[in-house]
Amino acid sequence: MSLYRDEGVVLRTQKLGEADRIVTVLAKRTGKIRAVAKGVRRTTSRFGARLEPFTHVDLQLHTGRTLDVVTQAETIRPYGEVLAADYPRYTAGTAMLETADRLTHGEKEPALRQFLLLVGGLRTLADREHEPRLVLDAYFLRSLAVAGYAPALEACARCRAPAIRAFAIVAGGVVCGACKPAGSAVPAGETIGLMTALLRGDWAAADASDQRHRNECSGLVAAYLQWHLEHGIRSLRHVEREPV
Ligand SMILES: [Zn+2]
Repeated sequence: MSLYRDEGVVLRTQKLGEADRIVTVLAKRTGKIRAVAKGVRRTTSRFGARLEPFTHVDLQLHTGRTLDVVTQAETIRPYGEVLAADYPRYTAGTAMLETADRLTHGEKEPALRQFLLLVGGLRTLADREHEPRLVLDAYFLRSLAVAGYAPALEACARCRAPAIRAFAIVAGGVVCGACKPAGSAVPAGETIGLMTALLRGDWAAADASDQRHRNECSGLVAAYLQWHLEHGIRSLRHVEREPV
């Protein structure tokens, strides 16, 4: 049997038989792993609580015929405990775990940048320095960018003209008046500015934004993410691309 170690974030768990669980982990070097954690649903389990969603954990596993098996688990940081006490942060964290799961398509395909974004996003949520919805929107935009779906925010997504009129999800971001599809959203310039700040990690600008621009930003980002998860996932390449 072959043993390996990696650190990762537990994305989700499901019951297996009487006492076992299958844990899905986004691991730093290995990428997404589905592994069996034996006996973790017994109260006497040595590492059951370390294999709950949100936990950043150091794992030892052995390679199995179908699923690998967790043999050791040590907590690096239990984000679930911190986030569970704050409902808006908890729901934002849950959306991060789901998105990380859906944007990392294959098992054991390295996804280092998605892992780093997820750990960074959970840490920022837990540190409580920024509004949870801003942290979530920054995470969405940046994980989409790593997956190859950064929205165009500075020039028309279709013709690269600099004069922006609207935001069109199907076009891939902002569009000019000539390229604007019917029914495009027409957000405030400040909203596009906020999206740019979140994508770049410019927290000074993001924290200074108005609530109405945050609301508009969240609506656009959620719709943009949803569209790509539904339409883009099949063509998602297994390699990570540079953000635009
Ligand atoms: Zn155009």
